[in-house]
Amino acid sequence: MTSITFHGGVDDIGGNKFLVEDKGTKIFMDFGMSFTDEGKFFSQFMNARTSNSLADYFALGILPKIPGLYRTDIAKHVGFDGDEPTDISGVLLTHAHVDHCKYISYLRPDIPIYCSEASKLIMQNYDETGNFDQYLTLKERFQVYTNKKGEISKAAGDKVKVPRKIEVFEDGKKFSIDSIDVEPLPVDHSVPGVNAFILHTSAGSIANTADLRFHGRREKDTAKFVERCGESSLDLILCEGTRIAETQSITEYDVETISTKIINETQELVICGYPIRDLDRLMSFYLAAKNAGRYLVIDLKQAYLLKLFSGSANFSKLYPSPDDETIKIFIPRGSWGLLDKNLEKFTERLLYMDYPEWQREFLDYPNTVDYRDVSKNQKELVFYCSDFNLQNLIDVKPNPGSSYIRSLTEPFDTEMELKEEQIKNWFEHFGIIGKERDWHQVHVSGHGDGEQIKRVIDGANSKKLIPIHTHHDEYHKKWHSNVHTVNQHNTYEMGG
Ligand SMILES: [Zn+2]
Repeated sequence: MTSITFHGGVDDIGGNKFLVEDKGTKIFMDFGMSFTDEGKFFSQFMNARTSNSLADYFALGILPKIPGLYRTDIAKHVGFDGDEPTDISGVLLTHAHVDHCKYISYLRPDIPIYCSEASKLIMQNYDETGNFDQYLTLKERFQVYTNKKGEISKAAGDKVKVPRKIEVFEDGKKFSIDSIDVEPLPVDHSVPGVNAFILHTSAGSIANTADLRFHGRREKDTAKFVERCGESSLDLILCEGTRIAETQSITEYDVETISTKIINETQELVICGYPIRDLDRLMSFYLAAKNAGRYLVIDLKQAYLLKLFSGSANFSKLYPSPDDETIKIFIPRGSWGLLDKNLEKFTERLLYMDYPEWQREFLDYPNTVDYRDVSKNQKELVFYCSDFNLQNLIDVKPNPGSSYIRSLTEPFDTEMELKEEQIKNWFEHFGIIGKERDWHQVHVSGHGDGEQIKRVIDGANSKKLIPIHTHHDEYHKKWHSNVHTVNQHNTYEMGG
């Protein structure tokens, strides 16, 4: 018997957690966070309690209560299960966006995570540049030891680090997890390393589209996946429909072209904002800056990500290295702000200590800039400024005649609208946008429109379809004659 239980990702955008069971083999496809579920109960100011996180999530129905699935340090501590053997053989990760991967941090480290190399690098970037993520390395809680004075102390640092079992698969190369054969197939989306899957089970073939589109830099990958589906006599396809109710306007290449034009028409500083881990979007701005004869100034997190990717033979030719000649790395003020202080008093060493360890190596790069350089050379730069670092504008002081290109999704709820108002206040304050609050919105989504999803549905030619990652299954129903809709936590039996 083969079944799929949908613990998230249905009638919702993201939060994908699909438990596939086949002849006793149990695997999850994705283990993501649902913004809807979290937003229902939590906010920036109130999260699941760190000591009690799993119990909080179980109580609110955010995570399924499955024995053997979760890290035992927390599970045991909240009176759930402990050391019994797990019967979950692995998690297949489509991509490293939080709505697909976030809750991996809660899983037992001995449950293997099967992912692409790019997904691994992105999770490494999360782990090493953030404070909370534990994708590749779990940090055990509630471990104590007796210190030199004979007192009980909380264990920390290397003492509590447990590496997670990460199995990197190759694009297009089949592998098996017990009774299930897995075919990972790369698709085009707004982050590197996204793979759709075709699972060959004892009850037939199941495809999972992941998140995809045809209007990015890797549209051929999506086309190849659809073609492969067509050849696989699919019994079932789990088909995304994030933007199925919409029509497309522009492509990733248009983002590059339009941005080039705006940069060419700007007299002073060009400021831009785009999704930090979307390297194809970074490429659009990199190429636009280069076309216009300017440098692209990136932040330290992007520099770190480019460093990780340029260390891989598979990616070193695809993306620029952090010391590329078109790139400058922006060094912000550190915790003491010693950047522009008298180093005869504070010393070079203290300046290094002003930054977290992962940032320090970049201080020695030849292509770093700080606010003084950006302020002085406004005509030569395209300055990346995220929504979380707008304070840098205070130091940079953009000249009249500067512009802002916003390459991020437009707000789709009231919280985001309020946030956007706030961001507009910053740009209005510095005279970059006028009273009409007009900035250059140049963005394309990571998701295909209706026409593109129809192309997937038609080309895949699956016997049955279950809509995922959408609020609009009426379109799937219009374009496929055998659509089955499931609710969260419901189980679908193959052949049933
Ligand atoms: Zn998603």
